[in-house]
Amino acid sequence: MRLSQYFFTTLREDPADAEIASHRLMIRAGLIRKAAAGIYTYMPLGQRAVMKVSQIVREEMERAGALEVGLPIVQPAELWFRTGRWYAYGPEMWRLNDRHGRQYALGPTHEEIITDLVAGEVKSWRQLPFTLFQIQLKYRDEVRPRFGVMRAREFLMKDAYSFDRDPEGMEASYWTMYHAYQRIFARVGLTFGAVEADSGAIGGSHTHEFMAYADYGEASLVVCPACGYAANVERATSSPRFQSLYPGEGEAPLTRIPTPGVRTIDDLVAFSGVPKDHTAKILFYEVTFAVPEGERTELVAALVRGDAELNEVKLLNALPGALRATLASREAVLSATGAPFGSAGPVGLRGVYRILADEEIARGKNFAVGANEEDWHYLNANMGRDFTADAVVDLRLVGAGDRCPKCGEALQARRGIEVGQVFQLGTLYSEKLGAYFLDQDGQQKPIWMGCYGIGVTRTVAAAIEQSHDEKGIIWPYSIAPYHAIVVPLHNEDPSLMATAEGIYREMGRLGVEVLLDDRDERAGVKFSDADLMGFPLRVTVGERSLREGQVEIFHRHTGQVEKVPVEKAASHAAEIVKRELEKLSRRADEEVLPEGARLAADERA
Ligand code: ATP
Ligand code: MG
Repeated sequence: MRLSQYFFTTLREDPADAEIASHRLMIRAGLIRKAAAGIYTYMPLGQRAVMKVSQIVREEMERAGALEVGLPIVQPAELWFRTGRWYAYGPEMWRLNDRHGRQYALGPTHEEIITDLVAGEVKSWRQLPFTLFQIQLKYRDEVRPRFGVMRAREFLMKDAYSFDRDPEGMEASYWTMYHAYQRIFARVGLTFGAVEADSGAIGGSHTHEFMAYADYGEASLVVCPACGYAANVERATSSPRFQSLYPGEGEAPLTRIPTPGVRTIDDLVAFSGVPKDHTAKILFYEVTFAVPEGERTELVAALVRGDAELNEVKLLNALPGALRATLASREAVLSATGAPFGSAGPVGLRGVYRILADEEIARGKNFAVGANEEDWHYLNANMGRDFTADAVVDLRLVGAGDRCPKCGEALQARRGIEVGQVFQLGTLYSEKLGAYFLDQDGQQKPIWMGCYGIGVTRTVAAAIEQSHDEKGIIWPYSIAPYHAIVVPLHNEDPSLMATAEGIYREMGRLGVEVLLDDRDERAGVKFSDADLMGFPLRVTVGERSLREGQVEIFHRHTGQVEKVPVEKAASHAAEIVKRELEKLSRRADEEVLPEGARLAADERA
């Protein structure tokens, strides 16, 4: 394509609302334009990058044996009622009515619709297993759409669903998709890792998130430098530290002491001299639960050590049917329990729906806690003797420096962009939606499912986040909208233009995706646009080097410049592109599964 005829505009200035590099650069390089909050138009350059990622995803899905389908975006509410997710999904689900007043949702994900489909089609074990996928727009009315297409309200997702006869089959399908994801992100050129994760609104048990590592990434992760354990902090645990919790310490007598003005844990430590790991704090949440008639809100108290932070995801997981939790107000706590805010504690606490205690509280001893009366605390409160809880669960937010649950090494903190997630769903959806099959033994059994998502548009943004400089994008060869741009420096020189055109045509003939910057612009403008748009190769055709029969090939990734004879320019560029694409494919071939994981193909061969 000729740039003079291309539909694009580059911007010199950063857009005011763009906080991160990928968002700024996608706007400035003319890849996307905003239509509404979290809703974007993909311009020709942006669309090509999206299509490149889609194509890699499609190839790897097919290589893994998955079949492509096209499911409807508009989904009847009735299916979502049957799984209970019409309410559970909350305000993120985009709902609409038809002219008859019937309710629908714009698909945020497709478990319901595909399980219903499969329930109607599959009768016998002979039809299993199989995996279906699609690449389609998804709709989520995010609370805070931001970072451009990274957290959008309309975005492109690859979603896949596997259907198996038994748990072993489901696991094999899961690892097959996991491996396909490793290959996909390797081919895209990302620096990434798979981490243990929370299963969130989808449900199910076993799940990994694929994270593109990036400083600004929205996800907080912990990784173990020694054994490779990696987890989203929403999920991360740190158990072995309990084993040596206060060894040899006995229970001391409960003592009520005056603590004038003490409101926080730090006040309490300063006033009483009790070490922080011998204090406990109580946090009150208004928790909303799904009930058949809609929603119900209850006050829940959570008890964690004074030096710990509470993990709200773990809190929600510990409360069956809980949809969301927000910190309760001072007034709500006082009116329900009679306890003033900074003085609440577990001893004699009344008026809450449920008290949850962190494992550290159950295993620890002699905590200083609030006495539910202003300016009074207890010393040496012990669970079981002085107070009880409705449940003891892991509630602690694990962070850097905590011990790895697998090997005990100090964990390190990292940030990541979630580009994909794989789940083992079990029979959760098949039972609710009636997806059963007749097994070889004549028994009716529910189908074992898995589901697998990749944020296609987010992956494009993540690649830019990982690969850019102050001048612009630096595209990995595999997803660059074009591999190269040919830049003639003097449009008014007909023989120079003819040389540039010749190289451009020859490159195209050799399979290089190439643009010709034939615009009537200064060299400086052409160079800065090429840098901004980030094509991996730039072939510069200038007067001076032409006098020696040469052109310059500029490598965007390394900044290196090669002088190449005119007649070799196209073939040399084509070789570079081929070599770089092969490098990324080899990277995919080097990806290995975690120990113990097996592929469905091995199983079924
Ligand atoms: P997040 O935690 O980032 O909100 P999620 O866990 O809700 O994502 P999934 O349901 O696992 O998302 O969806 C599969 C993939 O779709 C995600 O891994 C992510 O790459 C992508 N994705 C999810 N939400 C968005 C969004 N709002 N904008 C762009 N991509 C998204
Ligand atoms: Mg996810």
